[in-house]
Amino acid sequence: MEFLQSEEHRMIRDVVIRFVNEDLMPLEADVLAREARGEGLTLSPEHEDLLNRKSQALGLWGLDSPEEFGGSDLPPDVMLAIHIELGKTITPYKPLPDSPNLAMLMMTATPEQRKKYLEPYARGEKKSFIAISEPGAGGDPSAMSTTARRDGDDYVINGRKIWISRVPESDFGIVMAATDKGKGSKGGISAFLVDKGTPGFNYVRKIPMIGGAYTSELLFEECRIPASQMLGQEGQGYGPMQQRLSVRRLQLGAWCLGMAERAISMMVDHAPQRKTFGVPLSERQAVQWWIADGVMQMHALRLMLIDAATRIKNGERLKSELSMIKIYATEMSATIVDNAMQCFGAMGMTKELPLQAMANRIRVWRILEGPSEVHRMLIARNRLRAGP
Ligand SMILES: Cc1cc2nc3c(=O)[nH]c(=O)nc-3n(C[C@H](O)[C@H](O)[C@H](O)COP(=O)(O)OP(=O)(O)OC[C@H]3O[C@@H](n4cnc5c(N)ncnc54)[C@H](O)[C@@H]3O)c2cc1C
Repeated sequence: MEFLQSEEHRMIRDVVIRFVNEDLMPLEADVLAREARGEGLTLSPEHEDLLNRKSQALGLWGLDSPEEFGGSDLPPDVMLAIHIELGKTITPYKPLPDSPNLAMLMMTATPEQRKKYLEPYARGEKKSFIAISEPGAGGDPSAMSTTARRDGDDYVINGRKIWISRVPESDFGIVMAATDKGKGSKGGISAFLVDKGTPGFNYVRKIPMIGGAYTSELLFEECRIPASQMLGQEGQGYGPMQQRLSVRRLQLGAWCLGMAERAISMMVDHAPQRKTFGVPLSERQAVQWWIADGVMQMHALRLMLIDAATRIKNGERLKSELSMIKIYATEMSATIVDNAMQCFGAMGMTKELPLQAMANRIRVWRILEGPSEVHRMLIARNRLRAGP
C-alpha cells in the first residue's frame, strides 16, 4: 500500500531503498563475520567512513532536522517509510542524527544550547546518548535515585546509570536526575546536558548484550555542571523524555516491519526451492500458514504505523497507540523471524544468515523503551480510566 502522497517524498524513499540494497546489504556478510568473531554487530571503521560519505552525498543526513540547520525537515510519515527500508538490513548503520534526542533538544534547548548542542547534533557533527535507566529503576524510571542538587550557579549530579546505549561514540549525553525526589515524575525529574569528560562523570564498564550489541554503566560522583546545562525547566524533564521515547517507539515499529518483510521475502525465496520428502516446502501447509499469518500481521502493523504517523503529523500526542505499536511490532516480528529460521532448518541457525541477528535485535527491543508488560499496563490503565 502506497501512503506517501508526494512525488518528492517517494523519490527520497527510493533513494533510501537503493542505499539499502546497493550499500548496506552487501556489507552484511562482513558484519556477520565480525560478530561471529566476537567483535560485536559492528562496522569496520573503513566501512563506516564509506557509508558516512555515501549517505551524505545522497542527501540522507539530517532527514528530520530543521531546514535552518541544513536538514530536510521530513514529516513523521516520510520518516516512517524511510525507517521501514532501513530496518530490512542488519548492517548497523543509520544516517545521522538519531531522531529521539533531536526531538527532545528541539522541544527544550535554550538559544545557547541550540548553538552548542542542537545545531551540531542536527547536522550529524555530534553524537549523544540518553541516561535514564539505573540499577534500581528501569521499567519505572520515575523511581530513579540519581540526584541533581542545586549549589549556587551549578548543579551537582550523583548516581549510577546502566544499560546506556551509544556512550563510547557520543560527545555528550542527556542525563535524567531527580531534583525533587518527593515529586517523582510529577515535577521532580529534570534533564541535563553533560559533556563527556566532565569531572565526576565516570565510565564504569562496557556491557556486552545479546546480538552483538553493547551498553554502558556510568557513575556520576559529585559531577558539577553549570545550571545553564539544564535542559528545559527544573522538574519538567519527564514529559519531553516521554515524547522522546515516543519517537523511538514509532521507529522501532518501522524497523520491525522492515525485518519482518525481509524474513518473509527470504522464506518466499527459499521454500519453493527446498524439497523434503519429494515436495517443495512451499506446498506444506505449515509453511504456507507461516507466510499467510506473517503477511496478515505485517499488513495490520503497517496500518497501525500509518495511522500513528499521520496523527502525529497532524499534531496529536499519542500514548496507548504507541504502546500498542511497540508491543505488536516486536512480538509479531519475533514470530515471523523465528518461523523463517525454522523454515531454513540448520541454515537458519547459522551466523551466515542475518536471521539470528534479526531475532536477537528484536528480542532486545521487547525490553528497551519499556518492557511489553509495562506497555500493556499503560494501555489497560488508559482504557480503564476512559470508563465503560
Ligand atoms: C540493548 C538495550 C539498550 C538500552 N539502552 C538504554 C539507553 O540508551 N538509555 C537508558 O536509559 N536505558 C536503556 N536501556 C534500558 C531499558 O530502558 C530498561 O532495561 C527497560 O526500561 C527495563 O528496565 P529494567 O531492565 O530495569 O527491567 P525492570 O524494570 O526490572 O523489569 C524487569 C521485568 O519485569 C517485568 N515488569 C516490570 N514492570 C512490570 C509491570 N508494571 N507489570 C508487569 N511486569 C512488569 C517485565 O517483564 C520486565 O521485563 C537499554 C536496555 C537494553 C536491553
